[in-house]
Amino acid sequence: MTSQTDIPAATDAAIAYLREHDPEHLAQLDEFLRIESVSADPERIGEVRRAAEWIVDELTRLGVERATVHETSAHPIVTAEWMKAGDEAPTVLVYCHYDVQPADPLGEWISPPFEPRHENERVYARGAGDDKGQLFMHLKAVEAWTKTAGRLPLNLRFFFEGDEEVGSEPVEQFIADHADLLRADVCVVSDGDTFDDDGTPAIGYGLRGIAYWEVRVQGPRQDVHSGHYGGGVDNPANVLVRMLASLTDVDGRFTVPGFYDRVRALTDEEHAAYAALPFDETEWADETGVPAPMDGERGHILLERLSARPTFDINGIWGGYQGDGAKTIIPAWAAAKISTRLVPDQDYRDILRTVKAHLESLAPPTVRVEVKIIHGGAPASTPLDHPGIGPAARALEAGFGTAPLFQRSGGSVPVVAALDAHLGLKTLMVGFANPTGNFHAPNEWMSLRNIRDGMTSLVHLWAELGAMSASELRGD
Ligand SMILES: [Zn+2]
Repeated sequence: MTSQTDIPAATDAAIAYLREHDPEHLAQLDEFLRIESVSADPERIGEVRRAAEWIVDELTRLGVERATVHETSAHPIVTAEWMKAGDEAPTVLVYCHYDVQPADPLGEWISPPFEPRHENERVYARGAGDDKGQLFMHLKAVEAWTKTAGRLPLNLRFFFEGDEEVGSEPVEQFIADHADLLRADVCVVSDGDTFDDDGTPAIGYGLRGIAYWEVRVQGPRQDVHSGHYGGGVDNPANVLVRMLASLTDVDGRFTVPGFYDRVRALTDEEHAAYAALPFDETEWADETGVPAPMDGERGHILLERLSARPTFDINGIWGGYQGDGAKTIIPAWAAAKISTRLVPDQDYRDILRTVKAHLESLAPPTVRVEVKIIHGGAPASTPLDHPGIGPAARALEAGFGTAPLFQRSGGSVPVVAALDAHLGLKTLMVGFANPTGNFHAPNEWMSLRNIRDGMTSLVHLWAELGAMSASELRGD
């Protein structure tokens, strides 16, 4: 912008543009959603690529430069940039993913997953919310600025991947190799949801990390008769459950020494932000089908335990006889998949090693225990006093008419930690999907309200951040 006073008028013009072109934009969203970009399906490799190319064509049409489909070890990554706002203006990196989950079970869809259906002020299609709809909203916010003001109020870079639903395998290497294409003052990730379906937006400022193992306990060479050998041959299933049970205490705390050493305690401000979130424990329990929430660590309310504290879970456990009736054996082996969700500043590499060593040390001499590391990922968080948080909150309030709530998510988004680790880039998670919008499930949907208010919010977001200098946004 030539001066800051131009920004409000230009913002209004961009929003008016979105309103005028609404039917055309919704038709174009349908076109994007019809591309069957299922990353897990080897038969749809060409469709995943077609989605990447569709995005590059769109970005190029909007005047965004260097829009490129990059080859990776898996599906392509798309990058692009619009850097004409100058060196003083902030640069924001926008991340979304254009791949989608498989549509199975197909029979449960009311209409075909890749033939978008508009009903009840919603768009139903695979990827409507997660995450092609949100990626599309970013394209339209850029279009609204470039078609009215002829420019954007800040520099934008784009980073769109096609492997998010299958583990983002090529992403970390890509970030390490292409810092020049991704460098920015802050990252905006739109791959989450609003706080509720009634128009309360949310800003996510934290994600948990993960560490994952498989444990196998081997006993006798083969299953043996429990009458003949019981009392003499140690039972691998008994040993496994004793070992796993010893990993948590009565308060649900993980017992491996050193596990909590680097867990960052919540600040008073964060406790207050959690306490302010509207949350009905009974309703939550009803939704999950559990008779009651579990007891957990003292000093932390349920919402904090769901996102700001580490956890331990047995994800699968098997071994021994599982058929009908009784079979009196001591099984030759038993095994389990286990994982912990991690929070800042826990180091998943340390934890992968210490938990493996701890489990091996628990093994009695009567069995052999093998612990295999499956994978790990780092937690991430953005401080609530980050200079981008205030502008983002104002932008969402302007778009939705309701102030956003701040939340940490219990899940993991690998790219966020990788951007922090390699580029020192903090992320604002500004998601627009509907929380009950059936992501990863049949009949995925996104409300037209979230699409429209979200696009308006993005127009405001670029105006808000564009009013800052690059160094202000970085917090230098
Ligand atoms: Zn997603």
